[in-house]
Amino acid sequence: MNLPDLKEARKRTDKKVDYLENDNNIKKIFENKKYFLKTYGCQMNVHDSEEIRKYLEMLGFTSTDNLEDSDIVVLNTCAIRENAHDKVFGYLGRCKHLKKEKPGLIVAIGGCMSQEENVVNEIKTKHPYVDIVFGTHNINELPKLILNAKGKLDIEVYSNEGNVFENVIYSRDSKIKAWVNIMYGCDKFCTYCIVPYTRGKQRSRKMDKILEEVIDLKNNGYKEVTLLGQNVNAYGKDLEENYDFATLLENVAKTNIERVRFVTSHPWDFTDEMIDIIAKYENIMPYIHLPLQSGSSKILKLMGRRYTKEEYLELYKKIKSKVKDVAITTDIIVGFPNETEEDFNETLDVVEKCKFDGAYTFIYSKREGTPASLIKDSIDLKTKEERLYKLNELINKYSKEANEKYLDKNVKVLVEGISEKDSTKLFGYTDTMKLVNITGDKSNIGKIVNVKITDAKSFSLDGEICNG
Ligand code: SF4
Repeated sequence: MNLPDLKEARKRTDKKVDYLENDNNIKKIFENKKYFLKTYGCQMNVHDSEEIRKYLEMLGFTSTDNLEDSDIVVLNTCAIRENAHDKVFGYLGRCKHLKKEKPGLIVAIGGCMSQEENVVNEIKTKHPYVDIVFGTHNINELPKLILNAKGKLDIEVYSNEGNVFENVIYSRDSKIKAWVNIMYGCDKFCTYCIVPYTRGKQRSRKMDKILEEVIDLKNNGYKEVTLLGQNVNAYGKDLEENYDFATLLENVAKTNIERVRFVTSHPWDFTDEMIDIIAKYENIMPYIHLPLQSGSSKILKLMGRRYTKEEYLELYKKIKSKVKDVAITTDIIVGFPNETEEDFNETLDVVEKCKFDGAYTFIYSKREGTPASLIKDSIDLKTKEERLYKLNELINKYSKEANEKYLDKNVKVLVEGISEKDSTKLFGYTDTMKLVNITGDKSNIGKIVNVKITDAKSFSLDGEICNG
């Protein structure tokens, strides 16, 4: 797409918002104004929203959950699935209506969708009430764009050569656990995936900067960090320094923060050294999200995933044998173009063999601009839905079986807060990332406690705090 030449801005890799911090008058401009921030998609977007929120709050805005009450609406979008696109444009309809009543309302769109040329064109032609479009590489420009919003569309979307920024400031969702970006973008180019086009090539952060961030979080009372990247196992491959994800993981574990997690893993880049490090350190949690996508080697090849069914199974077995009590979850796509009944049965076969702790399952959704969108999709929707239903039944069966193994056991749980579904209960996660609804006192929030599991459901456990 045609993007503004912002090379100079891209070079700025430190203290991204000096211009804001140095102007004490800025806050007053938006005093008593409210922001409505809606986040779609993956953990990367959730974490980006923590940065967006920080800037909005620095400008003086306070949060509202009610779109109608807001003075600025920021939609942090996702481009992975078609329905995410429909949802965003559904929200824009409401913004259009609201702007008639509140002409001063600022409407801003960021995230992966705003990196797509067709979406930007659609906004330009059909949604003139949108004020700001910003990209995934230049979130730090948002305050400037808001301050300069003049009721006409301002588009600033950097190309995918975006730089690695340090000293990013966040308004984090939690004071107990934190996301830590270790890299941006992805070089894998799986044929169905839009991420390498919207988030650009892989750019790893320097290890010392990541460690500084982890130590700082630990010193501020955080109990858990999750190292975040589209493909964390490829960490460091783009750097001159001779270090990789195994080295990073080991160094993060050595900070002695209580819990270390990481997401997402690509099986192709998962090395034996990584497995050994996970097995060696008690504070690296025995939980791995290992996307399968398909159990058919033919479909995996069409997806550009770089591993076969057999290689995935071998890796799975290796992890299970080396990492004690590890829980493994996965992602599976059904109905990829040319997926035959035989191919689908291969997927079911892998699920039978692996008995995953859980899975995110999806019907294939075509993304314009990806190589897979050029493959003729001959499978009708009814067949895809039937396959998804069958797959989910099997996944749920094994997920419940995995949870039942916890019955009557004592497990360590990091208590995160009060359950949204039942305000008399607390909630937290086990080492293996099982959600537990807990009977216990609020004073346990933020602590790692022993919990006796009293009930096991397909998607969660119930338990009570105990001393043993
Ligand atoms: S590894 Fe593949 S699916 Fe994951 S972000 Fe990269 S291109 Fe997309």
